[in-house]
Amino acid sequence: MKEKIPCDMCRKEIKNNKDLVVTTYLMFFILRKYHNACYAKREKTAGGYFLVGGKPINTRVYSIMSAIGALILLGFFVLLPIISPASSPFMGFIPLIGLLLIAAILYTRIASYYKYEKKMK
Ligand SMILES: [Zn+2]
Repeated sequence: MKEKIPCDMCRKEIKNNKDLVVTTYLMFFILRKYHNACYAKREKTAGGYFLVGGKPINTRVYSIMSAIGALILLGFFVLLPIISPASSPFMGFIPLIGLLLIAAILYTRIASYYKYEKKMK
């Protein structure tokens, strides 16, 4: 299924996955998509790095890194009850923050794929 995906900078259609750069905006909540060239231009502008947010997420490196990150966080959850007593005040919110992080990382990767990458195939 082909659907037009406009670039968030120049508003022109992004024609294929090779030219698509998806990044997160405002932490993990909003996805932005750019042409390769527009992303490069944007990142160089003053404050552009912070506005654009993180690095491109529709890359193999990001997929691998998010998988590793999720595994490390999961490992941390398994270890936490062993290294920290159950009565510790941290037991309540640290796992919650970690779970939210895992969810956010996986969400951005999956959302990028279904919202943009899949539509260009
Ligand atoms: Zn563009």
